Amino acid sequence: FVDPAWLRSDQIEIDDPALVHQWGRVLRLSAGDRVVLLDGHGLAAVVEIAAIDRKRAHGHVIARCQAGGEPAVAFDLYLALIRPERFEWALQKAVELGARRIVPVAFARSLPSDRADERRLARWQRIATEAAEQSGRGRIPAVAVPQPFAAALAASVTADLAILLDEQASRHLREVVSTHATARQIAIFSGPEGGIDPAEREMALGHGLQAVSLGPRILRAETAPLAALAMLQYALHS
Ligand code: SAM
Repeated sequence: FVDPAWLRSDQIEIDDPALVHQWGRVLRLSAGDRVVLLDGHGLAAVVEIAAIDRKRAHGHVIARCQAGGEPAVAFDLYLALIRPERFEWALQKAVELGARRIVPVAFARSLPSDRADERRLARWQRIATEAAEQSGRGRIPAVAVPQPFAAALAASVTADLAILLDEQASRHLREVVSTHATARQIAIFSGPEGGIDPAEREMALGHGLQAVSLGPRILRAETAPLAALAMLQYALHS
């Protein structure tokens, strides 16, 4: 991923030390080699390197196209704030699995120590960007500022389908998806280590969320959202 402004011109000059190092030293690229640059907003450009030294690279755009890698359905993951290392793991995997947006949510049973400060937020966005890059996605998923549960519910109203992952639910995700086969935007709420508080469950149902089970086993808080993303994409051919 590079600064979108760089891709507007046909001639590309790169003096970002990290990128030049990666191309020259790590990937050992030289004049004549081609790279694909992404602007993070869906545009891809094939660039042929004309010259590269220790400080800068120069090349020209050979072709521009829309980047692939995005699912047909937009999945917004409302992910409970859980222990930071587990949250980061789930965030990285959710991006690999195609989530469009990740909204960290303070559930009643999220621990105060799991709340985020600015440094943690910047780190999460970096994790999302690197995961998008390595999995060949054309867009960088946004990691939102953490929301209290009620605000997250309110933000999810634009979705065609909003689901609450809940091991106590009587309906399986499969049943709910089969009646929403044309959904194009899906909000997925996934709870913390201590589970969903009964008042939150009630509030979610009152907002029209569908409580769904992923099966008879209780999954870890970082496993459940990933299983849901995989199942949804399989069911929706996305
Ligand atoms: N105590 C374990 C932990 O530390 O991760 C398990 C926590 S489980 C209660 C966390 C969340 O994962 C739940 O609130 C729910 O959103 C989701 N979840 C886990 N198993 C599930 C299942 N079988 N069906 C639906 N959602 C599930």
